[in-house]
Amino acid sequence: MSCIFCEIIAGRQPADVVHEDDDILAFKDINPTAPVHVLLVPREHIATVNDVDEAQHTELMGRLFVVAKRLAVQWGIVEQGYRLTVNVGRGGGQIVDHVHMHLVSGRRS
Ligand code: AMP
Ligand code: ZN
Repeated sequence: MSCIFCEIIAGRQPADVVHEDDDILAFKDINPTAPVHVLLVPREHIATVNDVDEAQHTELMGRLFVVAKRLAVQWGIVEQGYRLTVNVGRGGGQIVDHVHMHLVSGRRS
């Protein structure tokens, strides 16, 4: 089954990329709910947090927070604050089955 975020990571689908490193890609959400709405995505396909493996993924999951904080500093939104959200499963609001963290800040007027 194809995964839209894997397609973006592979460069086969476009995205407005704001950060990339060996492990993580961050790009703007296509349907933003606030002035700042970015998705931080591990390059490795992990479907949901339920599939996170302690031995393999602990550092990677921690790095999502570190990159989110770095972007917040870079964009000057530390003062106003921001939300970091990970939806898990359909009942938890997850639509795309590739682990991702939402970085959301500012309100739509
Ligand atoms: P979630 O509900 O946590 O699974 O969030 C999935 C998010 O991915 C939603 O906010 C969508 O707007 C966003 N999204 C879906 N497809 C794309 C895409 N091709 N590029 C950027 N964001 C996307
Ligand atoms: Zn994927």
